[in-house]
Amino acid sequence: MLKIIDEHSLLIPDLELWLDHRSAKPYGFVSHAHADHFARHQRILCSPETGAILKKRYKVPKSHLQTLNYHTPFIYKDHILELLPAGHITGSAMLHVTRKSDHTSLLFTGDFKTRPSHTAQPIAYKQADHLVMESTFGKPHYAMPSSEAACSQLVEFVDQSLRDGCTPVLLAYSLGKAQEAHYLLGQNHIAPVLHPSVASMSTECIRLRIKLPDFYYLDELCPERHCIIMPPGAMKSNYLSSVGPYKTAMLTGWSLDHPRASRYRDVNTLIPLSDHADYPSLIAFVETIAPKKITTIHGFTHAFAADLRELGFDARAAEKEASN
Ligand SMILES: [Zn+2]
Repeated sequence: MLKIIDEHSLLIPDLELWLDHRSAKPYGFVSHAHADHFARHQRILCSPETGAILKKRYKVPKSHLQTLNYHTPFIYKDHILELLPAGHITGSAMLHVTRKSDHTSLLFTGDFKTRPSHTAQPIAYKQADHLVMESTFGKPHYAMPSSEAACSQLVEFVDQSLRDGCTPVLLAYSLGKAQEAHYLLGQNHIAPVLHPSVASMSTECIRLRIKLPDFYYLDELCPERHCIIMPPGAMKSNYLSSVGPYKTAMLTGWSLDHPRASRYRDVNTLIPLSDHADYPSLIAFVETIAPKKITTIHGFTHAFAADLRELGFDARAAEKEASN
């Protein structure tokens, strides 16, 4: 059912549908609105929430969007297509396809997370013969602490920074982790102060009925107990020049990897908060879906496929020009 041209070029030939392709095609499924999963396809299949974010973030015209609600089968060219929540960020979806002629099925995950999220619908599971899955954290040492533990670390960082007379600054991608941080600050009675790109995405998520607390912009008068959220790239700008002394914490699952973590020397603290499934969750996900065949994409594709083979699964990393 799937043609794998390379790791980033996945096509369902019968539907002429490309999956998270990075360059524009006539018809493409976009699993969620992160830039590395999006291109300006002529027709984009996505969830309504992703469609709204694509309009806001990338000015995608409404006429290019074909939105499909979760759990709503759509019949196209003798196939049944269904979007399932992926638990990654607001609007993220997995694509499940069943060929009606022989009931063969495919599940394409995009990015996903099985742990509860405050800003994404909980992941849904559906059996498939062929599972195409991300393996970002596909090595065993990527076992994240519980969400509660990561949240406690975040609150402790904020409180300690304030005790030290510094403004706490959380570094997180504008879409996804920034809203999780935004939510967690509100839950702990810390006023969120948002960088404009974070505020833009939080505003859109609020419009999409994600429950996020009120927030402030940096140039507003903020309560004493507040914390800034901004994307890591904004550190290079002069955004923080008027803030006075500050301390930074990067929200990243890579904090569990010491060689990679050392790249973040300019950051005071790393907090292991991620919107991807960690290694134990990846394994548990495969066991739940129980596919006949697995293709791994993104991250540690070869290592993770090898581990799955050890567990008795037929798993391969996506490689160039293997037709399936
Ligand atoms: Zn993503």
